[in-house]
Amino acid sequence: MKETKKEVPFFNYPYLFESREEDFIEIFKDIGRRGAYILQKDLTKFESDLAKYCNANYAIGVANGTDAIWLALEAAGIGEGDEVILSSHTYIATAGAVAFVKAKPIPVECKEDWMIDPLAVEAAITSKTKAILPTQLNGRCCDMDALRAIAKKHDLIIIEDAAQALGAKYKGEFAGTMGLAGTISFYPAKTLGSFGDAGAILTNDKELYDKMRFARDHGRNDEGEFIMWGYNSRMDNFQAAILNYKLAYYDDEVKRRREIASIYHKELSELHQIKLPQNPNANVDYFDVYQNYEIMADKREELREFLKENGIGTLIQWGGQAVHSLSKLGFNNISLPFTENFFKSCFMIPLNTSLTNEDVLYVCEKIKEFYK
Ligand SMILES: *Cc1c(COP(=O)(O)O)cnc(C)c1O
Repeated sequence: MKETKKEVPFFNYPYLFESREEDFIEIFKDIGRRGAYILQKDLTKFESDLAKYCNANYAIGVANGTDAIWLALEAAGIGEGDEVILSSHTYIATAGAVAFVKAKPIPVECKEDWMIDPLAVEAAITSKTKAILPTQLNGRCCDMDALRAIAKKHDLIIIEDAAQALGAKYKGEFAGTMGLAGTISFYPAKTLGSFGDAGAILTNDKELYDKMRFARDHGRNDEGEFIMWGYNSRMDNFQAAILNYKLAYYDDEVKRRREIASIYHKELSELHQIKLPQNPNANVDYFDVYQNYEIMADKREELREFLKENGIGTLIQWGGQAVHSLSKLGFNNISLPFTENFFKSCFMIPLNTSLTNEDVLYVCEKIKEFYK
């Protein structure tokens, strides 16, 4: 009998380095030999290339995607006594950043495409609400027209958590550029992954740009003068150099991610036991970059176990916990039935650029075999 078992890990971390090992070593040598570790030309170049790539006026490289969010919130003047509305289906970092500036995170429902529900946002607005912090989840944008209309009507700002959505577009606009500011993460497993922690903030607002730029470097302005209290949240120049190199072929990576999503869709959309994310070309308003391929599945635990037995790695996002369910963090008696139901059956199957078509088809074959 033919041996059909393969190993398809959920994410292949060594591949990140091994895929272009020689070039990465050259970059490391170059940085080391120039002694160019902090706030050097590689970071300046990455910031300008990233801004250009996203069609934004400004980009700031910071230490990670979480710092990016709170630096943006703080520069926007969000603080004690303010409420910030976000999706309960997001990483703790989104809510954590709000708590960090001493404001109150208000988690709300997501809708059918698992993005924040604009109706739920509007229903959650109080006199204390200052901002909407939508997560551009799984490499897809929220319904930004609806969110912007609400923000305008109620005089709120929008800061996008676009940690998962570099290059994703909504009606031609890039994730991270549709509000006052937007944030990106370059955590290794993100669509554009560095070799450690790194993040960025995008904005078109010059005043906010300067505030955030100074804040990430001890409150120092271009003349080296300390003009405000600040922090150390600089992106390492080495990470910037790696990201510079990778940004140049990022479009190819996105194309490949969309190809894999298409294969999953083609192979799995007939199964009535699972619900898939949107097909890449389903709606011209959305250009998704497929940070993740998150599905809902009947008999989730049995399916995951079966896939595991067959060498396939899967993951439940956020450890299976929606933000509003984290009672130890002060979220009590909040009922979000749609999100709660979603978390009973959601999980993610592998989607990254280390996968071959054979790997992807193997995953599909095993899922079909399970439900047969
Ligand atoms: C990854 C992620 C973050 C945090 O980014 P880090 O770089 O790990 O700090 C924030 N929000 C979302 C939605 C993320 O997926």
